[in-house]
Amino acid sequence: DDPDWGGPIMCGIIGCVGMHNKTLDTLVHGLSKLEYRGYDSAGVALTNPSDTYVDVVKRSGKLENLRTTLADGGSPTGTVGIGHTRWSTHGPPTDGNAHPHTDDDGQVAVVHNGIIENYQSLRDELTADGVEFQSDTDTEVIPHLVARNVKHGLGAEAAFRNAVDRLEGSYALACVVAGVGSVFVAREDSPLVLGVGDDRTFLGSDVPAFREFTDRVVYLEDGEFARIDGDGFVVTDATGT
Ligand code: GLU
Repeated sequence: DDPDWGGPIMCGIIGCVGMHNKTLDTLVHGLSKLEYRGYDSAGVALTNPSDTYVDVVKRSGKLENLRTTLADGGSPTGTVGIGHTRWSTHGPPTDGNAHPHTDDDGQVAVVHNGIIENYQSLRDELTADGVEFQSDTDTEVIPHLVARNVKHGLGAEAAFRNAVDRLEGSYALACVVAGVGSVFVAREDSPLVLGVGDDRTFLGSDVPAFREFTDRVVYLEDGEFARIDGDGFVVTDATGT
């Protein structure tokens, strides 16, 4: 499974929704526990249920670069957060191509492990709609799709599901939306697990991401969605059941 061997793409996702202000530390700690998977960039996104924007900090290179940037720049706070270590497939390992990716207004942030096979046609469609892409990644179509759905009046969860329905390929996805106290996730051909803490709920590519905080683990199946809240989670299948 070493990516250098041409094995499956690994790298990692972490997420946390909690009632107190330890989300950033939990994300960075989780990313450090996923370093064994190999990566070329790292980043985090945080928001609060009362915020009108999502804070994103991301850097190419080692996690230490992200830590330094966070320390220098004043660390973002938030009770809802996602983090990512990237193993580039579309676009070189630059700061701009690092995840999370956002929509034009910075209201939606997404992290993704895997490959979106139909990203070019979605990118063409969104570009024709006036979207200005900031990265070379396949991933960036996703926050733009979610944001467009929100603008068309869908609630955050429906906007996320509808966007995921448009995707072909492999993905573990986590999405935050400004002003919404949940993380939305989906998986297809890429691992994703949930962790249930006493006052926080976690998600990760693998259990070590949050093992220190809880041993209550729920494995998502391909095609499933979940909404992660501070006090629990809801898993649904493709039909919404
Ligand atoms: N395909 C995405 C990219 O190149 C995600 C890669 C990954 O799994 O980290 O940014």
